[in-house]
Amino acid sequence: MSRPIIAIVGRPNVGKSTLFNKLIGERRAIVEDTPGVTRDRIYGTAEWRGRELFIVDTGGIEPRTDDVILSKMREQAQIAIDTADVIIFMCDIRTGLVADDRDIANMLRRSGKPVVVCVNKADRIGDVEEQYYEFFELGFDREPIAVSSLHGSGSGDLLDAVIECLPEQTDEEDDDDVINVAVIGKPNAGKSSLINKIMGEERLIVSDIAGTTRDAVDSIVENEYGHFNFIDTAGIRRKSRVNDRIEKYSVLRAQMAVERADVCVLLIDGTEGITEQDEKIAGIAHEAGKACIIAVNKWDAVEKDNDSVKKFTNEIRTALSYMTYAPIHFISAKTGQRVTGLFEEINSVYANANTRITTGMLNDLLSEITMRVQPPSDKGRRLKIYYMTQASTAPPTFVIFCNRAELFHFSYQRYIENNLRETFGFAGTPIRIIIRARGDSGGDKD
Ligand code: GDP
Ligand code: GDP
Repeated sequence: MSRPIIAIVGRPNVGKSTLFNKLIGERRAIVEDTPGVTRDRIYGTAEWRGRELFIVDTGGIEPRTDDVILSKMREQAQIAIDTADVIIFMCDIRTGLVADDRDIANMLRRSGKPVVVCVNKADRIGDVEEQYYEFFELGFDREPIAVSSLHGSGSGDLLDAVIECLPEQTDEEDDDDVINVAVIGKPNAGKSSLINKIMGEERLIVSDIAGTTRDAVDSIVENEYGHFNFIDTAGIRRKSRVNDRIEKYSVLRAQMAVERADVCVLLIDGTEGITEQDEKIAGIAHEAGKACIIAVNKWDAVEKDNDSVKKFTNEIRTALSYMTYAPIHFISAKTGQRVTGLFEEINSVYANANTRITTGMLNDLLSEITMRVQPPSDKGRRLKIYYMTQASTAPPTFVIFCNRAELFHFSYQRYIENNLRETFGFAGTPIRIIIRARGDSGGDKD
């Protein structure tokens, strides 16, 4: 199940980043570094009462200037409204309730999303009581929560209130046979053209999934290939021309859509070639462990010769060397050329990401490949691999037990990954390999 998205919204300087940093604590460490992906610390995960929350600091996407204008706050809040499951609306008890707070509150209220008002900088209980009651005026259903992000007090109550806003967690996926698809890519890659093409030609049902508040944002397509939910189509189609040019917004949008996706379709502008921003956006899908298809768009407008496909493919494979698993399609959102082929591919990579291989089959493969290429040794010590098992799917994650983790060189992991791919066919999905040394509890403390 995808993690619920919690966005922190509010005026500048109320303490959004401070709270964000408190909430995600040590967890901001990223599993792996993807080359070319610089990280803005605007999102991270926190765990509370056994639930993992995906937290977005909308303030972090703004340059820190003194003349932060209301329109920028609107844009931040809009992204949060579009994509978050719960909004933490932060105010400042020291300034009290101000006009801008009311403005933001109105926007948030119109969205119908659950809002938890967080009254920050309540460092000392007592001296701030009167101001605290002002915030009831904002008129949200839930009582405002007073916190001190600086000291960390109140954050438990805040997260409790956030969790109360979420639908009950069930073991089942919300909608088993719907595949959630995020169309991602830099501005002008053709995302809205693609969505329009798909929506125009297929039967369109505006999403109406019970228990979600995402109705206006997502679009469900039902066709001969299955059910597909295109995430954040409202955001893609609406696009504020000015702000989508700001790279950080498009990266944030992509990040939030990817979080909720089963499959990502990364659109690259074929008339431009692959750029740094494409690399950045691809890195988001990769790091999130999502199945991914690369679609080179505007192929109708590219001057082609016999080598064009090959050349473009090489270019992509070089720039996105960590993502060689992703199939590449050459499409035109404008003419519709090869667009339907995407649906078959989405089904295929989705199935691959959800494949489960039995421990027996994995260990047959393991004994065969360790015989073919001996595990590495160092200073007289040889790596011994005991066995391998699949811990989870989407992405397929394998745990390998061995004698000494430090002997498990990256190249040997790569060798095992390649063999897993060759044998079981994981096209379109990243694979994770976790190495456990015997006696290594693996960092799980309990
Ligand atoms: P943002 O612009 O909303 O992200 O605000 P920041 O997190 O950057 O905080 C703005 C200022 O408020 C900084 O100087 C923080 O140290 C301060 N601040 C944040 N939280 C608290 C708090 O709980 N108590 C006090 N006294 N100051 C705080
Ligand atoms: P978005 O910002 O990613 O949503 O991109 P748009 O869908 O708005 O497309 C940006 C521009 O590229 C528009 O002028 C589109 O008409 C054009 N465009 C999109 N897809 C294609 C395509 O397949 N072929 C051609 N020739 N132009 C396209």
